[in-house]
Order: sequence, then structure tokens, then C-alpha cells
Amino acid sequence: MSDSNNKVVCKACGKEFETERQLHAHIKVHSLRVVEYYQKYYPRHDLHDGKIIKYKNKEQYFSTDFNSKTNLRMWLKNSEESEAKKYCKNLLADRKDKKNLKYSPTQVEMRTVMTPPMQYYDELFNGYYSFCESLGFENKYQKVSEITTGKEYEKTQYSIHVDTREQMPLNFDNYKTEIKTLSVGDYTFSEPKLTCNCYIERKSLADFISTLSVKNFERFEREIERARDMNANLIILVEDTLTNALSFKYLPHISKKIKVTPEYIFHNVRYLIQKHPHIQFLFVNGRQESKRVIQKIFFSGCVYKKIDLQYAYDQKIL
Ligand SMILES: [Zn+2]
Repeated sequence: MSDSNNKVVCKACGKEFETERQLHAHIKVHSLRVVEYYQKYYPRHDLHDGKIIKYKNKEQYFSTDFNSKTNLRMWLKNSEESEAKKYCKNLLADRKDKKNLKYSPTQVEMRTVMTPPMQYYDELFNGYYSFCESLGFENKYQKVSEITTGKEYEKTQYSIHVDTREQMPLNFDNYKTEIKTLSVGDYTFSEPKLTCNCYIERKSLADFISTLSVKNFERFEREIERARDMNANLIILVEDTLTNALSFKYLPHISKKIKVTPEYIFHNVRYLIQKHPHIQFLFVNGRQESKRVIQKIFFSGCVYKKIDLQYAYDQKIL
């Protein structure tokens, strides 16, 4: 885009600019919108159907080979295995370099960028985590085939603690809850040793979007840091599917007034996941599922720390 002196050159007239922002302001004189400028002078096409890549932002435009995950899936399906392997390997290796990633991408990270999901990599390379390790990633998690819950959690001295500020507390069937003031999250188990100090923050999709937006982001990250300082593991549990969360612009129950895009929200999510290994994001299908999953996480001890919860949920293990 720019030469070694960091000058940005307008492809339409050759004029030079100090910043990209100045260029973007300038191209109006050619009656071009930013989208049109890049699509005209730097055309990029979907590898599957050959259509021009949709422009959302410059970084996305130059790093995307497909306009949809369906097209990506179709292209991979029609490719030789060696070609698919080469493409998928480069995708992850490039991402690691560009984003300076340390940990093997989680299912939430994989499903929110234009890559195949973890299960595809797992099959293609005969093991997702060993493959990531070969690319230089550090593994936070490992693959498990089941999550078992223990009997000791049924003892009468134990309960689930619910934060006083929790607006719509969940009722756990046949399980005792106590209202307490929690320093982070909304739910925790009364005996922290049994769950490796697990805290769960429950959020509706609208809350989740608001928390990850500009005005609340810093406060949210401070909460995450507070959890780290108290050696807690924090799970941000969203009561809606990841598929819905990715297309919240089209959901009637999410206010149309929300200016922020899913791309922006999930950029922040991915940033937090890589920066804070003691947190996980988990998207489940509604309130009933939240109840079930919270109990399963608490009653299975410290297992949740070693597994990718979204992947386990997608695989119906959680
Ligand atoms: Zn120009």
C-alpha cells in the first residue's frame, strides 16, 4: 500500500499523502467511496465464486479470500486434500504472524474469523492442538471426549452463590443458591477449592454487545484483571448462540440503534482471549442452557480450565 517512506499514494491521480486517513478523505475528489477505491484499484475476488470481495475495512479486505463461510467451505470441499491443507495451514500461520498470537486459537476465535472451525482442522491434520503446536502456538487446552460430574457437589453444605446485583437470577432445579456479594462475575460455587475458583458472568446478547463496546470496554477489562489478581477463572457466558451473536445486526430483539458492528465486538473478544488466559467466552442456546451448563461446569471440578468450552459445547460434550 505504502512505500518505505510511509507515503500513501492515490492510485487514481498519483498524489502522495502522509496517512491513509488523508488518502481516504482525498478520494472523494474522484467521486469514489473508500470501498469503490479499493475494489477498483486493488480488486480481490472470492476464490470460490469469483465475485469481488466485500469491503468492510482495509485489513479485512486484504486478508479475506471468501465472502462467506459457505464459499470457504465449498472451495475446501472442491479442493484436493493437499491444497486444502496448504491453504488452512497458511491461514493460521499468517494469522499468528500478523496478529502476534501466542495461544492456539480457541473455537470462539476460529468461528468469528474467515477460517474453518476447529473440528475441520482437527480432522484435516489429525489433531488440532498438535497441529497448532507445530506452527509455534502454545496450547491452553486439550481435547477431551467427555466431562463427568462428581457426587461430592451434592453435599448439603454446598451451594451456588449468586451475586446481589444479578438482575434475573437463574433458578437451579433442586440446587441451593445463596445471594452473596461477589467481587467478580454473577455465579460461583460456595467451595472455591472444588472448582479452582471458577466465576461465571452471565450475559444476555444485548449486555454482551454493550460490555464489549467502546464506552464499557475498559471497565470490563479491569474486571478481568481483578479476577486474575484473585486467582479466579472467569467464564463469560452469553445466553445466545454464537451464530446469533455474529449476526446481531439482523436480530429484531437487539436494538437497531446499536451502531457497533459484530466485527468490532469480536475483534475485542479475540483480543481479550489472547491476552487473558484465565478467561473464556461461551455462547449457549438460551437461559435453560445457561442453567444446565453452569451446573455442569461447577459440578465437574477443574476440568473446565483444561478445555475449550465453546468447542466442547459445539461438540455436545458440555
Ligand atoms: Zn487522487
